[in-house]
Amino acid sequence: MEYSDCVSGEDLWHWRQAACQDTFDYLCNMQFAKEYIRELDWLLTAVAAVDRLALKLETYRNCPAIAIERPLPDLSILWQRRLTEQVPVQYLLGRTDWRDFTLTVAPGVLIPRPETELLIDLAVAAFPEADPTPAHWADLGTGSGAISLALAKSFPNASIHAVDTSSTALSIAKHNATQLGLTEQVQFYEGDWLDPLIHLKGKLKGIISNPPYIPSAIVPTLQPEVAHHEPHLALDGGTDGLDAIRTIVLQAPEFLHSGGVLLLEIMMGQSEAVSALLEQSSCYRNIQIHPDLAGIQRFVQAHRI
Ligand code: GLN
Repeated sequence: MEYSDCVSGEDLWHWRQAACQDTFDYLCNMQFAKEYIRELDWLLTAVAAVDRLALKLETYRNCPAIAIERPLPDLSILWQRRLTEQVPVQYLLGRTDWRDFTLTVAPGVLIPRPETELLIDLAVAAFPEADPTPAHWADLGTGSGAISLALAKSFPNASIHAVDTSSTALSIAKHNATQLGLTEQVQFYEGDWLDPLIHLKGKLKGIISNPPYIPSAIVPTLQPEVAHHEPHLALDGGTDGLDAIRTIVLQAPEFLHSGGVLLLEIMMGQSEAVSALLEQSSCYRNIQIHPDLAGIQRFVQAHRI
């Protein structure tokens, strides 16, 4: 975070009081408003040198000067957009924290979710033996680049191939790679799933994807922050939500070397259907389902025979 401004604790306190009042007035629902106030404090901790405890105890009020990255009138505009347009805080800020780094995000890319962080741990756990040989990994539908960049950090000897059909997403992902100093290790390709990686047939050690998996009819019913602001391209998985997953399960065996891993994020309730797709292909062994931290069957793992 780069602070370009300063406010007094007293001014910040008054600003927060007014924003809380606006929130209560706009929502007319105490419980709902409290959820929003939590987000207001998250926004404040992200843009100003205050932490949650200081906000809760109001100790910051006595500080003569608090560094802040945007002037308070700008913050008021952002908070109005949060309230009236339901814009996710991450888009308002233009960034999100994910694993141990910060990513630029904008409406052209899905906001990386905390549960997806576990995909990287599963990739690391898939090969417990140390292997110094340079490997190739693919991340299909990279979006902000989150998975590819985390893979690059976890496997410093590997080459990561990040694919997306959206040029907007790719430009954000490339920007993130530059910010994190990972441009040498991560290459970006525009296209559908494995199509741009024909030169890597039989050479991939791993294929990872958080593909669109939400059934089309459910997408408009998602919370407005998601349905109205996040790219449907990254969410909508067709009638049963499995269109992208079917394509990946079908294409992956040609690209993975023997023993290579396919790791996919899936939606609650899809694990049986996806396991069946993997079984039917007869190209995979050791098919496993992994839960996320909420206990939801969230990931599927299979190894190329
Ligand atoms: N996990 C996202 C959501 O719940 C969906 C991401 C996806 O379709 N891959 O909104």
